Amino acid sequence: MAPINYDQEGVVFDIQRYSIHDGPGVRTIVFLKGCPLRCRWCSNPESQDPKPELFYKDSSCIHCGKCLPVCPVAALSQDNPGFVDRDKCIRCGACAEACPTDALTRSGKVMTVNQVLQEVRKDATHYRRSGGGITLSGGEPLMQSDFARELLKACHEQGWNTAMETTGFTTPEIIADVMPHVDHALLDIKAIDPAVHMANTGVDNRIILENAIRTAMTSKSVVVRVPVVPGVNDTEQAISDIGNFAKMLPGVETVHLLGYHSYGENKYGLLNRAYPMGDTPDLPKDALPPLKKVIESLGLNCMIGG
Ligand code: SF4
Ligand code: SF4
Repeated sequence: MAPINYDQEGVVFDIQRYSIHDGPGVRTIVFLKGCPLRCRWCSNPESQDPKPELFYKDSSCIHCGKCLPVCPVAALSQDNPGFVDRDKCIRCGACAEACPTDALTRSGKVMTVNQVLQEVRKDATHYRRSGGGITLSGGEPLMQSDFARELLKACHEQGWNTAMETTGFTTPEIIADVMPHVDHALLDIKAIDPAVHMANTGVDNRIILENAIRTAMTSKSVVVRVPVVPGVNDTEQAISDIGNFAKMLPGVETVHLLGYHSYGENKYGLLNRAYPMGDTPDLPKDALPPLKKVIESLGLNCMIGG
């Protein structure tokens, strides 16, 4: 195996500690920026663009004007209803540093593998006790495959368990390169119907389903995860189609069903983007148990949440 490149850089938009989701035990979730999908229900819209970007919270702005002169491209204007001209902005972050109230903040920063390890190490004693470890999420971690691979290798070097949440929308070469360093793959499957998938995520699902098979054949443990979204895949037929696909993946025994919620809606406002789900209500709590039964009737384990 090639030596670990601890200086490999990636763009990280969040590191969450003490999570009990997204893999076994206590976990540290490292969120990598960039995603090729545009799921209408995405609750982390700041994860989609690969580069750092600005959040602007109008209600926190005291109109002091301190940010205006530091912008090198004059992208900020009180006359602009969204305040930031996002076509002009080069994402340098100078305005966020100048802002005294955090009305402007930058999402995403460049970090090396070594810098992420320093953060993750703070939870290491909990990993040993709980069987936990690190989980890469996003965005789509495989969009930064060099960074993901080196970080996973570095975690294994420390003796930490690794997990990765992935859409599977990548190349077979990247699956072969990265997945051997993942102990638990969390594979998101949104829809089997190609037209439904395209209309709601913006991409063809053929490559995802092919890569799901490759992932299942390469990984030690794979869980299929399904965001259950009203009007997209909340029918018994749609869930049965996904369950039947999961059942034929080698080694897959468990499906997680995650109900749609609109928690991420406010972040669209901070990015001056419209919320693609409009006023779609959250999936009612009683919608999931019957769908769980559909999965279980196929001989798979099913968990609500996860
Ligand atoms: S991030 Fe940089 S370029 Fe963008 S608005 Fe702020 S100061 Fe201007
Ligand atoms: S520095 Fe912050 S508070 Fe002041 S005008 Fe700019 S965004 Fe508003």
